[in-house]
Amino acid sequence: MSVKNKPKTLKYRSIAKSLSLWFQTHARTLPWRSHPDPYSVWISEIMLQQTQVTAVLPYFKKFMTHFPTVQDLAHASLDEVYVLWAGLGYYSRARNLHRGAITIAERLQNGQGFPQNREEWLLIPGVGEYTAGAICSIAFSQREPIVDGNVVRVISRLQSIKTFDSKKTVIWKHALALVKVPSVQPEVLNQSLMELGALICKPKNPNCSECPVSQYCSGQKYPERYPAPKLKKEWKLLQEHKWILIHKENLSGLRVYFEKNKKGIWREGLWDFPNAGVILGLKTAKVKEEFNLRYVVTTHKIERKHTVLELTAKGLGRLQLNGSWFSTHDLPGVPAPVKKAILKLLKTRES
Ligand code: SF4
Repeated sequence: MSVKNKPKTLKYRSIAKSLSLWFQTHARTLPWRSHPDPYSVWISEIMLQQTQVTAVLPYFKKFMTHFPTVQDLAHASLDEVYVLWAGLGYYSRARNLHRGAITIAERLQNGQGFPQNREEWLLIPGVGEYTAGAICSIAFSQREPIVDGNVVRVISRLQSIKTFDSKKTVIWKHALALVKVPSVQPEVLNQSLMELGALICKPKNPNCSECPVSQYCSGQKYPERYPAPKLKKEWKLLQEHKWILIHKENLSGLRVYFEKNKKGIWREGLWDFPNAGVILGLKTAKVKEEFNLRYVVTTHKIERKHTVLELTAKGLGRLQLNGSWFSTHDLPGVPAPVKKAILKLLKTRES
């Protein structure tokens, strides 16, 4: 990205200075901010994708306690990572973190250290332009821009940008011009833009009277007009039929059968119920109940029919299974919709 083509209208120097000063007194205290080393910045930035800070906090603490170094994460199994990730959603992030940790641990072993710049970070699975910019600016104080939802909103309002651009080319140019202002620290500037979007320039009812850059903002009269609305999302509809195989362990316990996904909306490696009709040797199971649940996962609207089948010990012996049984008291890391189906099943059995 060339600074030559930067838009001329914003007062970058004044805005960057005001934002940086404001951040130094108003920034929230967050665990990854107290030790902005590349490992914790990387973990926090991946967790924060599509997820609110308050939701990330307990996961980040748990994750860093279990995997205090990148080597700890690299040596863990993917299942251990999923268990700690369960409930945070977008499981491809967990898988990419695990793959990324293996790559970085190999670099460390070869004496290369952590990736040092945007290009090297972009080679790490799951790291895109935003994350690479965030890590390089926050952990290495490099003048790399970042553009996330908060930054898009703040810059669109400051500059009253009326057209929707899926590539955000103009926003990136403004973000680059701001982070290049020599008198501000890039890590402070980038975080101040995001923090302003999270605390003051919120999607609804921005608090313009408290905003440190209101005097430079041309969009504050109608802030809700910015950013320009996206084109309508195209939903893909998906209908699935799953079997929930259950087996009573003892008077209180119940075991449920899961298989690892090979393909589908959650991609490979996550525990899920088997597809209806594919278990060999299933002859004597009783249909206990059927229920449907609907989910939205990224651009998919999913309607899942669940048929609950209870097996006796005799019936169990005839099955040819590839997956595993888990007690409902000790479930593995499963996607939220699978957990929702289990909770529904348990609730029905209690009533
Ligand atoms: S003045 Fe209002 S709309 Fe403009 S950047 Fe500040 S909070 Fe956002």
